[in-house]
Amino acid sequence: MIIPGMWRYTLLLALMLCLPAWDAAATQPRSAQDSPVGALATVDMKLRRVTDHVWYVEGAAGPATANQGFVSNAGVVVTGAGVVVFDALGTPALARLLLERIHEITQQPIVRVVVSHYHADHVYGLQVFAGQDAEILAPAGAEIYLASRQARERLLERRKLLAPWVDDRTRLVWPDRILKEGAQFQLGDVDFTVTVVGKAHSDGDLIMYVAPDGVLFSGDIIFDGRLPYIGNGDTKHWLEVLGRMDREKLVALVPGHGSVTKQPAEAISQTRRYLTFLRAQMAQAVARLEPFDAAYAHTDWSEYRNVPAFDEANRRNAYQVYLEMEAESLDGTQHNARKQPGAPRRKAQ
Ligand SMILES: [Zn+2]
Repeated sequence: MIIPGMWRYTLLLALMLCLPAWDAAATQPRSAQDSPVGALATVDMKLRRVTDHVWYVEGAAGPATANQGFVSNAGVVVTGAGVVVFDALGTPALARLLLERIHEITQQPIVRVVVSHYHADHVYGLQVFAGQDAEILAPAGAEIYLASRQARERLLERRKLLAPWVDDRTRLVWPDRILKEGAQFQLGDVDFTVTVVGKAHSDGDLIMYVAPDGVLFSGDIIFDGRLPYIGNGDTKHWLEVLGRMDREKLVALVPGHGSVTKQPAEAISQTRRYLTFLRAQMAQAVARLEPFDAAYAHTDWSEYRNVPAFDEANRRNAYQVYLEMEAESLDGTQHNARKQPGAPRRKAQ
């Protein structure tokens, strides 16, 4: 009689070890005020079909406050056992419009929202989906953003810049589950694989693969048709993630910004090339002890100057990478100094 009990224990332990990371996830109680609020968005928002189960809406290229804040993408997967939404757009008004568009193609409930990362243009619509009782999943790192001064300041700023679509009732919504590693789930005849990729474009990013469709939602790890926004990520790790990305089985890739692509390898290599170029240029400048302004002026940007979002994003991206390269250089100097006592240290700019 002891053996079955031991088996049960062993089985339970094995199951615990195999469970996706959200078992260890942090959860946060949800406020009672989760309801769609604010002005109605009047932008042109079309739900575009990608494959059998997958749809998406595409934000315009432009600064974050252009087009009533509709500058990022959101995905919709209709499974036969409910709808999964990927990212929640940049205002509650946009999320409400997205909900209307979803109701035009299905009456199934929204059961889950998977958030690629916590940046304002992807999460301000969450309160609308929370009001639909959808479960919200986000990558580890979301809690860093939510607790940050930057998040509070950004919301105050957007209440001014995106009024009346972001207003006093717009608020940051905590995820129900914070994923530390990957997660897999099935709904109807659709399989979802969520991979947490760590601090790449933001404090924490995830991507979601949908089978059997072969569609990858990349969030802001990949931009297509416009320059990436580096954000507060880690370009070294970001490049490692892109290098590891399995592109063989992909039928289509929906980026965080820009159009869906049926040539995912090309989109991945474009983002890789830009990040690699920025890192090489700024690393050289740091090695020469050249101040950022001079480094930026000396760099030949001709390959990227005509890419959409260059004016809004490139200088800020370059500065962020310059700071990163400086920090990496200091790390290297300190590492060498530990090996060679007395070696001179470079001062931060
Ligand atoms: Zn972002």
